[in-house]
Amino acid sequence: MKEIERLFKNNRDWSEAMRETDPEYFARRAQGQSPMFFFIGCCDSRVPTEVMTGAHPGEIFTLRNIANQAALTDLSFLTALEYAIEFLDVKHVVVCGHYKCGGVLASLAGLDHGIVDHWLSGVRDVIRIHRDELDALPEEERGRRLVQLNVLEQVYNVSRTPVVQRAWARGRRPILTGLVYDLENGLIDPLVTDVGSLVDANTMLPHAIDDSGGAPQRARATQGVLAAAGRT
Ligand SMILES: [Zn+2]
Repeated sequence: MKEIERLFKNNRDWSEAMRETDPEYFARRAQGQSPMFFFIGCCDSRVPTEVMTGAHPGEIFTLRNIANQAALTDLSFLTALEYAIEFLDVKHVVVCGHYKCGGVLASLAGLDHGIVDHWLSGVRDVIRIHRDELDALPEEERGRRLVQLNVLEQVYNVSRTPVVQRAWARGRRPILTGLVYDLENGLIDPLVTDVGSLVDANTMLPHAIDDSGGAPQRARATQGVLAAAGRT
């Protein structure tokens, strides 16, 4: 059987099985969506958002790109975020990275991968900001830590968008969360949770801006992040 035909067959089997169990399953979903979560994840085929969280269609609004970037110049991300918050009223915005992320590791290796190197400039920014911490680590740990820091910096970016700041100023959600998925065991590792205000973002994320001129408070904020992740 050709590969694509296998997908078609699996789709027919799935549709039939779902309707056998619940004849109205698809009819209810066709009425509209009201997801609680907006997930920003990596394109990696080994990170199946719905499978790993047990979610059904309609529960997670999703944007995927290489290395789970929430770039403030990316119209696709900004559009999806605004739609999720203003029109779908999602409760949670989640950035989900994963260990052994090819995009993140390619950023550590340097430039020679084609157009993706342009896309990964955000990850190289994370390396630059956290250079001292990363340089002090052995190679394998450096890759894992960069995956974590990349997630945290993307959560920070989400907190810096006008749509999120407007929602918070009105006393509304979303709550921001940063996760890492471990390909080796299928488990999600929460890095930062319950970021629900600018004060939270400024104290819990590693790139927080202080009041005295905008310098990153890396040391203090990283401690806060580690504490939030139960690692201190
Ligand atoms: Zn990846």
